[in-house]
Amino acid sequence: MSIVAPCYNEAECLREFHRRAAAAARASCGESFEIVLVDDGSRDATWSIIEALAEADPHVVGVRLMRNHGHQLAASAGLSLARGDRVMLIDADLQDPPELLAPMMARMDAGADVVFGQRGVRHAETWFKKASASAFYRLLSNLAAVPIPRDTGDFRLMRRRVVDALVSMPERQRFIRGLVSWIGGRQEALVYERQARHAGTSKYPLRKMIRFAVDAITGFSIGPLRVATYLGLFAAGLALLLLAYTLWQWAAGDTVAGWSSVMTAIVLFGAVQLIVLGIQGEYVGRLFQEAKARPLFLIDRVVTAGNERALPAEFCSLAPTAQREVWEATRAATTLRA
Ligand code: UDP
Ligand code: MG
Repeated sequence: MSIVAPCYNEAECLREFHRRAAAAARASCGESFEIVLVDDGSRDATWSIIEALAEADPHVVGVRLMRNHGHQLAASAGLSLARGDRVMLIDADLQDPPELLAPMMARMDAGADVVFGQRGVRHAETWFKKASASAFYRLLSNLAAVPIPRDTGDFRLMRRRVVDALVSMPERQRFIRGLVSWIGGRQEALVYERQARHAGTSKYPLRKMIRFAVDAITGFSIGPLRVATYLGLFAAGLALLLLAYTLWQWAAGDTVAGWSSVMTAIVLFGAVQLIVLGIQGEYVGRLFQEAKARPLFLIDRVVTAGNERALPAEFCSLAPTAQREVWEATRAATTLRA
């Protein structure tokens, strides 16, 4: 069993997170588990705490990224190193209780491929966060080609075959919960109450939330590209009516100088064209990002069981499924030497 947690400036949460996650893992799996903590380029003491935890507890694997890559990529880095047959992805701030591992494992024993946490009640989140999240999930489920369950985050337990499929998807603008929905299999919801953060503040300011929403929508729907077609059809209908009206006025010899109507038409269609261009730009931008085919993330260092493990320099450019094998080999080699 692997528990994967992305951490960005979570120094105040990490020790408590480790305590509760390790206890939950031990209760379900005895000693055969690991906790992969990914430091997403934090600026506080997060990395030194991860190092200390890895020193004290051989179950901990600490991974430091070269810089802040964002939640989704930090999670992806953790997933590509996770070695468990089952992998739980969870936030490090204890908003999602690690103790839910037990009921998730039970569902998986009964045959589920993915058990995702669905937020029933959300404690201590602003009305704005709740309202924007709710609007976002509703918009997304109307647009997306695959059904993406509402009110779920990335908190979930996944079977190995799902993790392998997820990790082998090459796209850079990752929207993990959507990718997991795309994979399919037997996916079940576990309703839970989302807690307040253990400590600290949200690392998802409005700017990141908007970016995330745009990635989700453009990654899973080409619906917005069709907006141009619908608006065009609507405008064509309007133009026909206007044409009839103009010809009629002309026939009646009553050609008025219509400054207001001309201005309105110019401003309206100018705005519509810019919006549609902007939407197309989002998709072109995505193509551009993907075409560069850079690695998803770069790993600075990995520590476990009190040792720093030297990953080969080209590690992050390897195919993600090869990454886990290389990591297994690196890990085994250094353990033998120690
Ligand atoms: N996180 C991260 N990189 C970032 C932002 C967030 O790894 O750039 C981590 C963060 O440490 C936490 C999880 O992603 O474990 C979710 O972030 P947060 O709790 O701030 O988001 P919220 O729950 O407020 O949506
Ligand atoms: Mg949180």
